[in-house]
Amino acid sequence: MPELPEAEYMVRRLQECAPHAHIRRVRILRDSLVAPQGVLHVRRYARGTVQQYARRAKNVLLHLDTGWTIRIQLGMTGHCYWIANPSAPPAHTRVLFLLAQGGALALEDARTFGRVQVHRQAALGQVFRAYGPEPLDPEFRWTDLRDAAAGLRLPLKFFLMDQRRIAGLGNIWAAESLFAARLAPQRGVDTLADAEWRALHAAIRRTLRRAIQHTFRVTSRPEEFPEADLLRLSVYGRADAPCRRCRTPVRRQVEGGRATYFCAVCQH
Ligand SMILES: [Zn+2]
Repeated sequence: MPELPEAEYMVRRLQECAPHAHIRRVRILRDSLVAPQGVLHVRRYARGTVQQYARRAKNVLLHLDTGWTIRIQLGMTGHCYWIANPSAPPAHTRVLFLLAQGGALALEDARTFGRVQVHRQAALGQVFRAYGPEPLDPEFRWTDLRDAAAGLRLPLKFFLMDQRRIAGLGNIWAAESLFAARLAPQRGVDTLADAEWRALHAAIRRTLRRAIQHTFRVTSRPEEFPEADLLRLSVYGRADAPCRRCRTPVRRQVEGGRATYFCAVCQH
């Protein structure tokens, strides 16, 4: 499932492959992806020149010169990238943004949990009001992370995955960040000392930055999207494999329907 690093990777690739893209037509191959907005509405307002590709949480944003922004929620399997030949799009393409300069921006989404919506730029603040701070924002301090947990009593892992508290982390990078910070996913957020919040804040930023860099290293073409097994993960998906720090087998535990991975020796 795409999280912050994967969305950031897509944004940087789009910027590299299709700067100043002028979208002249939108082809929607699966209507449910634009719900609750209508097909005609999205087709109408998703046209224009992309002034900037950006990311907020796990959303890919295309800011147009018309005052509108296309917001792509990646869902479980969404992947957005430039293709040269729109007449033969990849198998799971759901939306095609056809470009005046040739080629298209394709949204591939095998499981169709993604969404494409258009918003007036003036309304974006409202659209994102429920999201927590961006962990890679230079202004994001360890105290912001601690304060986001004030008054809560829930396990760290759930806290990190809650987009209202901190934006962009999902199952993979929450588990990896907790391993890097040596904190157990089950720890209650109300039990952390300031030094531990500081360590967690640093671990999240380091883990996400490395994940973005690593994504570029393991993929050489824009249409490639690295699955977790291509990335060198510390704990996620490594049940029973030796911990990279202490060689104890990594543990897998299902909580709230999601599997979490951790080292019971290194993480407390
Ligand atoms: Zn360990």
